[in-house]
Amino acid sequence: MNAGQVADVIVIGAGIIGAACAQALARRGLQVLVLDAGLPGATAAGMGHLLVLDDNPAELALSQYSLQRWRETAAALPDSCAYRGNGTLWLAANAEEMAVAQSKYLNLQAHGVACELVGGNALRQREPALREGLEGGLLIHGDGILYAPETARWMLETANIQQRRARVSEVEGNRVRLDDGHWLQAEAVILANGVQASELCPELPIEPKKGHLLITDRYPGKITHTLVELGYVTSAHNASGPSTACNIQPRPTGQLFIGASRQFGSRDPQVEGWMLARMLKRAVEYMPGLAQLNGIRAWTGFRAASPDGLPLVGQHPQRQGLWLAVGHEGLGVTTAPGTADLLVAQLFDETPPLAAQPYLPQRFLGEPVYA
Ligand SMILES: Cc1cc2nc3c(=O)[nH]c(=O)nc-3n(C[C@H](O)[C@H](O)[C@H](O)COP(=O)(O)OP(=O)(O)OC[C@H]3O[C@@H](n4cnc5c(N)ncnc54)[C@H](O)[C@@H]3O)c2cc1C
Repeated sequence: MNAGQVADVIVIGAGIIGAACAQALARRGLQVLVLDAGLPGATAAGMGHLLVLDDNPAELALSQYSLQRWRETAAALPDSCAYRGNGTLWLAANAEEMAVAQSKYLNLQAHGVACELVGGNALRQREPALREGLEGGLLIHGDGILYAPETARWMLETANIQQRRARVSEVEGNRVRLDDGHWLQAEAVILANGVQASELCPELPIEPKKGHLLITDRYPGKITHTLVELGYVTSAHNASGPSTACNIQPRPTGQLFIGASRQFGSRDPQVEGWMLARMLKRAVEYMPGLAQLNGIRAWTGFRAASPDGLPLVGQHPQRQGLWLAVGHEGLGVTTAPGTADLLVAQLFDETPPLAAQPYLPQRFLGEPVYA
């Protein structure tokens, strides 16, 4: 660390992305300072579903790599992180969606993802709470779940990470100004403050995408896998209008997490009754018994969406000393380990474990203005 610097690296944001980057850097022996304003972040609001998604090759590469890293880390995670390798069951309501399941199956198999097509009868044997008459599904064996806020805390307990409650009001390359006026400097600054990233860097094309969630009382054993309708693939990427899709996750506590909704154009954290009702109705269509269960809390959160749905990971091309790890949309818990590995490899000028190109910030910000 050079004179005048408070750490080798300053990380802005202690959500799952900032925490994963900080942990990976500290494990390389760097002194890391994590600054967090204590704002309600997506990590605390989300579902913590760890899933391989294959809408495009870059999404598949990052999610598959990251899932592998989560499975390797699982044994080291404390119980409080509530990791389970319970798999995802994608649900096909009709023949058309079954065709989507089949093409997904072929694509994932070709990339070495362990998965299995399941017919309608076998589906209900595996998950008797599902309604009759579904066409079938696709089971992804290596997917899982975890409790993301606790996992971020665990990552930050690594030696060499200092944490400070502070809001950054300005970023200037490798220097940050806190809202008390103090400037702090390091070799590098990593921006990992989720949906607030564009407050510090207005040039970033990050938009909030609102989501609703509900959690039920404890009903152990109702379902085993995380159940997601295949319509999720289209609704999750529906760029403009509000959308919902059935997404039901069994928590280790016996509770059920019910999602998912997506809305652009709102920054209001209020739960909206019409949207919650629409989301729950969709879930009940797949699992009728849900209607009898007691929902104990509903809330919202904001995903940090980039125009192509992929995160921005790498050096800011116009602000030397500033590195970006932002724009993880609805997949940031899943892709945190891959993001951290990509970022660290670039910082150390090493060959990254997967091609960094699709996630580089210059695809939106233009070519670097420095060598
Ligand atoms: C409803 C919903 C469901 C989701 N479900 C899933 C899922 O099932 N699986 C999955 O993989 N992903 C899911 N996600 C997405 C995932 O939660 C996010 O991609 C991920 O948590 C982003 O983490 P982050 O660290 O980038 O941001 P955040 O968790 O938002 O953390 C950002 C941090 O930055 C801090 N901060 C902000 N501005 C400043 C500042 N100026 N100075 C200092 N600190 C600052 C905040 O206090 C906050 O702690 C979901 C998201 C939502 C909203």
